[in-house]
Amino acid sequence: MRSFQLIRRKAFIVIVVLTTCVAVSAQSRIMLNVDASEAARGVIHVSEKMTATPGRFAVFYPKWIPGEHSPTGTINNLVNLHVSANGQSIAWNRDNVEMFAFWLDVPKGVNSIDLTFDDVEDPGSTHSGNLARIKWNRLVLYPRGVSQNKISVSSSLKLPSGWDYATALPIENRSADKVQFGPVDLEMFVDSPAIIGKYFRKVPLTASGTLHEMDIAADSEAALQYTPETLAGWKNLITQAHLTFGGQHYNSYRFLLTLSDIGGSEGLEHHQSSEDGVGINGLKPGEPLIDLGDLLGHEYTHSWNGKFRRPAGLATPDFEKPMEGELLWVYEGLTEYMGYVLPTRAGLWTPEIFRETIAQDAAMMAQQQGRNWRPVADTARAVQFTYPSPRGWRNERRGVDYYYEGGLVWLEADVLIRKGTNGKRSLDDFLHDFHGGNTGPLVKPYTFNDVVSSLNRVMPYDWATFLRQRIYDVKADAPTGGITNGGWRLEYSSQPNVRMAGSEQERGYRNFFYSLGIFVTNDGLITDVKPDSPAWAAGLAPGMKILGRNNQPYSNDALATVISAAATSTSPISLQADNGGVIGNYNMDYHGGLRYPHLVRTEGQTDYVSQIAAPKQ
Ligand SMILES: [Zn+2]
Repeated sequence: MRSFQLIRRKAFIVIVVLTTCVAVSAQSRIMLNVDASEAARGVIHVSEKMTATPGRFAVFYPKWIPGEHSPTGTINNLVNLHVSANGQSIAWNRDNVEMFAFWLDVPKGVNSIDLTFDDVEDPGSTHSGNLARIKWNRLVLYPRGVSQNKISVSSSLKLPSGWDYATALPIENRSADKVQFGPVDLEMFVDSPAIIGKYFRKVPLTASGTLHEMDIAADSEAALQYTPETLAGWKNLITQAHLTFGGQHYNSYRFLLTLSDIGGSEGLEHHQSSEDGVGINGLKPGEPLIDLGDLLGHEYTHSWNGKFRRPAGLATPDFEKPMEGELLWVYEGLTEYMGYVLPTRAGLWTPEIFRETIAQDAAMMAQQQGRNWRPVADTARAVQFTYPSPRGWRNERRGVDYYYEGGLVWLEADVLIRKGTNGKRSLDDFLHDFHGGNTGPLVKPYTFNDVVSSLNRVMPYDWATFLRQRIYDVKADAPTGGITNGGWRLEYSSQPNVRMAGSEQERGYRNFFYSLGIFVTNDGLITDVKPDSPAWAAGLAPGMKILGRNNQPYSNDALATVISAAATSTSPISLQADNGGVIGNYNMDYHGGLRYPHLVRTEGQTDYVSQIAAPKQ
């Protein structure tokens, strides 16, 4: 009910202008000093002065985090909170219901309070011994109930000795290991994180005009090396994004890239930067570089789609009001799609990688049993628990399908426009219409109807029905119209999908979903079972551990050999598995061999998929 109210709500556009370094029309001011000199061991010290009013007064720790679309504020990391005014200690009390709010009694005549606290980060989260992510939302308390655009934040950052830093914040001055930033409003402040590190490299991506920079902090000097082809691809990414969207909505743009196997892993969008954190081998040619192309393309796209154009329900005035995730199939789905298209147009991906990635997504969505009971829109509305949903039973439960299925719907829309206009128009025209123009960082909220109106300006069509059927209806079949109308078809063969094989090697599991119907880690743990599959019929379930044969340790390669051999045999595949100490035999009468998804060309049909992948001129 609520969702239909939302999508039928009359469109309203509120344009909120974010300021960068001009004075904010502030209702409140915060002076924040962040001491990150101990960031390498996960401790950051904060001291803060904030305007306050006498009497009952509440401060708030950011709870609903932009880009995470969820109440993921790290309140457990806030320790050692002390409040005072004019040198006199003030007692605080956490709200009984809202755990992120702290109540104070501010004495008469006092108009500012001092707060100190520490942020303690879990090992392996935001830092390693050589680098750290500085996420300001974890390092600030603000007056509860005041809009983020009415709070001016001036800040400073103390670095570990000899470390460098990068951020989109305006810099006033730097002395030795301390940086002073100019005032911005709280929204822009939280939206402008920093990376700091010992091994650091700043790589300009544009020679003139707007600054675009790849800022890299790594766990070693050697990890900072990249090839000339990689640099050319990064520069092409900027060019292709501008040709694709038309214009930009930032004053400068920084990719805040960390390379570490210990900490700093991230993928989070901001208006004028993105947090991109991968493994220490992230710049090594092969799978890591393909993954990085995806990540950079995705987060960069968000500057247009997500930060500039944002679903009205996600454009909240502060960090306390709950966010509504329903339109994440646009925010994340379209970004997922463009996060494949742009790296391909930029040369960071080959057209084959583009097609294999689409095949992987289409196969994953096609076999998703959860699609029989819940629509994609529901996975978006439920974002608070779809992000952290467990791996086991995900096939029944569905995961963040608004990314992958959303992406397939946008591919279908792209092909539909190309076909319907005889190649004269494409989804790029929608992107120009919906996301185009040149501005500084703005938020321009939208509704379902705004998306439909823009698509109609590009090509008149019943887009409302097109989208409702694919996104809001329970639908047994995955939306693969973009593939079939695009001159290709989804087929399975024993040849590994190069995208799947690469990510499996990186992440330590094997996908036997399209054959036996199981996901298995490299040491034999079953993480998911597909209902109606041979594994399901045999009684296997997530959490069981497949045992090795002939007293050998379990190996996915050995299981693959068994599945292949069974293709030319009539004997069932027999596995032994441990279910919490109960050892059982599980027999599967399966003879289909290994199966992996691919796009196969349908000769005679126009190849729109390759046209989409081609660089724009
Ligand atoms: Zn995203």
